[in-house]
Amino acid sequence: MIRIAVCSLCLKTRKENLMLFGKNICEDCEAELTQSSTEDLSYDLYVKKMKEVITAPSKQDKNKL
Ligand SMILES: [Zn+2]
Repeated sequence: MIRIAVCSLCLKTRKENLMLFGKNICEDCEAELTQSSTEDLSYDLYVKKMKEVITAPSKQDKNKL
């Protein structure tokens, strides 16, 4: 079953790929994350984004619980 979800990092509507704390991370962003090294400038940005995704309270999730 293919589900569609908005990617929490690039905010594009993509096929559900990697669900992390109820947020979708699309294939492209997952690849970016896994390919990024600590020396890449984009790595910091992604780490920050990931922290936002993980720590941000979600009203939708609240309703599900
Ligand atoms: Zn994405």
